Amino acid sequence: MEKIKMTTPLVEMDGDEMTRILWKMIKDELILPFVDLKSEYYDLGLVNRDNTRDQVTVDSALATQKYGVAVKCATITPNVQRMSEYNLHEMWKSPNGTIRAMLDGTVFRCPITIPSIHPAVKFWKKPITIARHAYGDVYKGVEIKTEEPGIAKLVFEGESGKKEEVVIQKFNGPGIIQGMHNTDKSIRSFAHSCFKYALDIKQSIWFATKDTISKKYDGRFKAIFEEVFQEYKDAFEAAGIEYFYTLIDDAVARVMRSEGGFIWACKNYDGDVMSDMVSTAFGSLAMMTSVLVSPDGKYEYEAAHGTVTRHYYKYLKGEETSTNPMATIFAWSGAFRKRGELDNLPELVHYADELEAACFETLNAGIVTKDLVNLMEGVIPQPQTSLGFLKAIRERLERRLGA
Ligand code: NAP
Ligand code: MG
Repeated sequence: MEKIKMTTPLVEMDGDEMTRILWKMIKDELILPFVDLKSEYYDLGLVNRDNTRDQVTVDSALATQKYGVAVKCATITPNVQRMSEYNLHEMWKSPNGTIRAMLDGTVFRCPITIPSIHPAVKFWKKPITIARHAYGDVYKGVEIKTEEPGIAKLVFEGESGKKEEVVIQKFNGPGIIQGMHNTDKSIRSFAHSCFKYALDIKQSIWFATKDTISKKYDGRFKAIFEEVFQEYKDAFEAAGIEYFYTLIDDAVARVMRSEGGFIWACKNYDGDVMSDMVSTAFGSLAMMTSVLVSPDGKYEYEAAHGTVTRHYYKYLKGEETSTNPMATIFAWSGAFRKRGELDNLPELVHYADELEAACFETLNAGIVTKDLVNLMEGVIPQPQTSLGFLKAIRERLERRLGA
């Protein structure tokens, strides 16, 4: 078989620990034998981030802005313990945070579902994608804990000299106060990313806030979404999808009774909490994909899980591992599909489809990694090692591609 050609490079962001090991295995087994890979490689492994004083992270984000499609391996976000483990010069910020800030993007998380793993919610037939607004609200909040009676006020001093002041509460004793904010710009970017992605995957989008209570704050989210939607209305109609706004309580009830198959756009805190609920209810963190979409249509694909440290330490001791590569493979297939669509390369899109199909074929035959064994019903699971599982996928991919 002749290898599939690419025209524009993918931005490839390598990472850390067990996922770095899987990264190479995936390339060797499932990509390089079939695709004439064109990538611009950035090593975001912690050693190289430290050596480059994190410049490599910035460069990889700039390359994503330039080329439009990136695929990222999981990376360590350093903490105190990592400082000594890697002898770091600084406690570098989370690469995901840096990239997200530079691309001003929204993260969409979607579970990979298979027939033998039943969601905890029996009505769910199709995946639910969570889109989480990644800026502001309580995550940029400031707080006061008061020990004495007094008065708390919210004050805004405009550059024009205009001043607004409202009393939050007159305290008779100890209490707590919180101030938080968001910006029209960030909410607007969030809305654009959501509507673009909905059109991309041809799924309806739901958005919910508590605007009956929070009339100005949540009301602003609702108004901006409504306004931005006007730009997408015709395209939505043509695609046969809809934008649906409701109250957050109503949304939760409807989600539980739904069949799935839509995108649920959430404010920052709602998205934080609901994405954990949805991913757990669908099965496993190892089967959760993630894509960052910027408001101007740049895409960065990755797995939602981390570097799977515990498995890596086993690997270093020479023990067999059985780490699930599904979400990382789907990051690659998502990136190839998008690259193929943008560059008009149907063969590359076909390869991405077949790669995913080969994964499903493998899982449906009961060939799995250990994390899935206890979740499967109706098939007898045969657990494999990390490499054994990839080889089983490769066998099927070769057959499907006639290689
Ligand atoms: P994690 O790497 O997601 O792993 C947590 C646990 O979940 C694992 O120990 C494993 O459970 C299970 N698991 C996750 N992915 C799996 C897979 N592919 N196959 C099988 N089991 C899987 O989270 P963490 O241990 O909290 O974080 C480790 C490092 O990852 C940290 O340094 C953190 O900063 C980083 N991190 C990076 C990202 C990112 O780059 N996007 C995201 C989150 C965390 P068992 O041990 O029970 O098998
Ligand atoms: Mg959370």
